[in-house]
Amino acid sequence: MPDSVRHICGISGGKDSSALALYLRRTRPELDIDYFFCDTGAELPETYEYLTKLEAALGQPITRLNADRGFDHWFEVFRGALPSPQMRWCTKNMKIKPIEEWIGDDPAISYVAIRADESNRKGYVSTKPNISAVFPFVNDGIDHDGVMRILDDSGIGLPSYYEWRTRSGCYFCFYQRKSEWVGLADRHPDLFERAKQIERKVLTEAGLTGDASYDDYAMAGRQYTWSQGETLDELLSRRDEIIDRHRQAMERAKERKRDLPLVDALSEALDADDDTMACTVCAL
Ligand code: SF4
Repeated sequence: MPDSVRHICGISGGKDSSALALYLRRTRPELDIDYFFCDTGAELPETYEYLTKLEAALGQPITRLNADRGFDHWFEVFRGALPSPQMRWCTKNMKIKPIEEWIGDDPAISYVAIRADESNRKGYVSTKPNISAVFPFVNDGIDHDGVMRILDDSGIGLPSYYEWRTRSGCYFCFYQRKSEWVGLADRHPDLFERAKQIERKVLTEAGLTGDASYDDYAMAGRQYTWSQGETLDELLSRRDEIIDRHRQAMERAKERKRDLPLVDALSEALDADDDTMACTVCAL
């Protein structure tokens, strides 16, 4: 490998990539690693706070990559179609493109935070031939508990959004589970309102009025709202039911394993709602 090879490590604002940065710092101090964070401009305030903590623990800045055009631009390009798991234009245009432009054509080694206990995940692996991916946690046998230990030992712990949400990424991310949307409405009502406004733009594009239901969307040929099968207004009108179901799922998780840490109970309860894999570019 030529000396000019770059070493890069993407930070998503989630626990695994943050732990990997700390792990690389400790186990490969001789490497000059560029840490980067792809900022969509729609991240949670908790994520920005956590990045500041991580920079202090690493003793070096994390490069912020900004997509030169934000969500509103791409939303227009895609004619008011919300991104969805089936059409993830957000990740491609707001994360992958800026990353690959920043790396350019120089040879680079990308350190990816897939854990040893996640054999079915892939993470961001570029198709550009100059970027090769390595998986230190897989190679060194670091699993979920190992990640938690790294974060505890460093003193930074988990991002504070872990009190209500387990996935990093945009506040409006369609990978959020129903109870996480309720968490957003409770903790960040302004962001929930903004997400609702974006959803309403879909209505306007489809020639519908602001209080249309999910069925109206479907009739107008708009298949996707932010959360599957309902608008955010409809979801919030079921707030008590969603919270109740989430509480029961937490209790079941705690009953299955009495000493289960709260954060793992939250994770299991949320997976009981929807265990679709989150975006591996945005949530590692
Ligand atoms: S976090 Fe969600 S909404 Fe944001 S870029 Fe990633 S997949 Fe898209």
